[in-house]
Amino acid sequence: MIGHTIRQRLMLLTLIVLFLTLFGGMFIAMKAFSATLRENVRTQLAKNASYLKILLNKQQIPDSADLDAYAQATSLRITLVNQDGWVLYDSDFDFSAMDNHYWRTEIYEAMQKGSAFSERKSATQSAPVVYHAIRIDGHPDIAVLRVSMPLSQLTGYQRIYEQLLFSGLAILVVLVVGITAISINMITKPLQKIKETAKRYADGDLEARMSIQSPRELADLAATMSEMSIQLKNKIAEIESARLQAETILQSITEGILLVDRNLVVLSANQAAKKLLWNNRNEEEFPIEGVRLVQLISSASILEACQQTFEDGKVHEVVTAHYDHLFGETAELMGRSLTKTLRLITTPVLADSIASQVVITITDTTETKRLEQIRKDFVANVSHELKTPITAIAGSAHALIEGAKDDPQENDRFLSIINRQAQHMQNIVEDLLLLSSLEQQNTSLTRLWVSPRQIIDETMQMCRYRAQEKGSIIETSLSNLQDLPIFVNGMLIVQALSNLIVNAIAYSDAGSTIHLDAEVDEEQVVFKVKDVGCGIPKEAQQRIFERFYRVDAARSRGQGGTGLGLSIVKHIAQVHQGTITVESEVGIGSTFTLTIPRKGSDLQSMKKRSDSLYETKGS
Ligand code: ADP
Repeated sequence: MIGHTIRQRLMLLTLIVLFLTLFGGMFIAMKAFSATLRENVRTQLAKNASYLKILLNKQQIPDSADLDAYAQATSLRITLVNQDGWVLYDSDFDFSAMDNHYWRTEIYEAMQKGSAFSERKSATQSAPVVYHAIRIDGHPDIAVLRVSMPLSQLTGYQRIYEQLLFSGLAILVVLVVGITAISINMITKPLQKIKETAKRYADGDLEARMSIQSPRELADLAATMSEMSIQLKNKIAEIESARLQAETILQSITEGILLVDRNLVVLSANQAAKKLLWNNRNEEEFPIEGVRLVQLISSASILEACQQTFEDGKVHEVVTAHYDHLFGETAELMGRSLTKTLRLITTPVLADSIASQVVITITDTTETKRLEQIRKDFVANVSHELKTPITAIAGSAHALIEGAKDDPQENDRFLSIINRQAQHMQNIVEDLLLLSSLEQQNTSLTRLWVSPRQIIDETMQMCRYRAQEKGSIIETSLSNLQDLPIFVNGMLIVQALSNLIVNAIAYSDAGSTIHLDAEVDEEQVVFKVKDVGCGIPKEAQQRIFERFYRVDAARSRGQGGTGLGLSIVKHIAQVHQGTITVESEVGIGSTFTLTIPRKGSDLQSMKKRSDSLYETKGS
């Protein structure tokens, strides 16, 4: 189709308007001219006809030569017709050869009304001819006089007008096309600029700018578009920053988050979810997005929970076991101790009250479950530990009331049982209180610079009585070449070492030797408590640090042990950011090693930081 562009369309439109104007003008001018001419001709014909009528009425028989002369002088054609319509005289043609004129419009009407005009194309002339006929009353032969004149001026005028029109048209077309092209250019050039800039905006280049001064409408449009691009850029930046924030929050959440669509296809997942469900796969090669949920979580109950959320728009929760790629009972069977417990919550993303997507939050509750179990076990253990002395105390008291108090020997026996069991209970409660205070001190431990020698001496002080009781010998050694102090809570370290030595005495034969060695260097202090006692079986070595764990419960209780000694040592090591380890062989003996950072790990890390700062500055 012609006119795809504004330029072509405007050009075409202008030319059409131009042609229409010119031809319309010509048509109107021709019409006006012919109307005026016709009016003139009619007046002229009427005047001449009136004159000739007077003449004919005077000369009863007109002289044809006179009429010819008159016709020639006035450029008229004169025709005389009798009552029957036959031509009696014609100034231009041989009347004898002419047909009957009775039914000629003007003649017939003149006979009826007295006078008439008519106009028609003459058979001999190209121009239209105006006829005027008047009735001649009272003449013997002539009934109607007709005068006529061609509108030949009309054709001449038309020809001149056409000549002028076409030459004028040629000039006008050139002028109009030129002016139109310039005007169109003034509009289309800025439009082209706007189009190009808009295309750059569409391609994402929001920095693109255009300068258009005129026409005003396009300049305004360009300014609005520039303003729009700035706002768009700001909005995109805002959205991008909000998206980044949301993405960072999502990625930093420790719970796994999955977003799935109605077909249960994963739309997005955070790092925790990927780690949990997509562990060893390369993210680039195997993106989690687009994977079906069933490929990630092969658990009917979870898929069902998702479907239900899509159907009822409500939150659903599923707790399941997870091991490797297995879920539920299979995971529990295959994973055994490595099985994790996952809690999955399906939350709908509502659009117009319809769940369009579902967010699955996955929480690893294994640790919580384990801690819950530990808490339960602890309560059970404490109750169990206290039950034995309480039962013994209650039994002894009952026996005394029942009459044993009257027998001095029995009285002493039961009182000593009560005393021993009360002591045992007191030990348990003290140990528990110490443990609980250690847990609270975890972050706010009071430390001082103390000498390792002082620690050893105080430990010896505390254990002397127990050693003497069993005839055991405690040998100490200290290697501290630079005589360095240690930054610790001295009382707790003494407590830990005492626990280790008391154990060493308790689980060794009477009269055996126990070694307490300490080695101090710039970084740490290492205490070793060595005995040649019964030793600890391999499988029990990790568990002895648990609360109330005993290898031989009867022996432990017999020695007045609470089953909490080593767990206190472990806690003391932990609050100092240190470690406790054991090397032991059944029948040969055990060595417990307590390692504590000399300056405390906080001080050390502060020093490292300051060292690195100085290094950086120095380099
Ligand atoms: P207890 O009060 O029973 O000694 P601990 O927590 O101090 O509780 O020790 C836990 C268990 O570890 C003891 O019951 C004992 O079986 C074992 N144990 C601790 N120290 C030694 C050791 N030096 N030699 C052999 N066994 C030990």
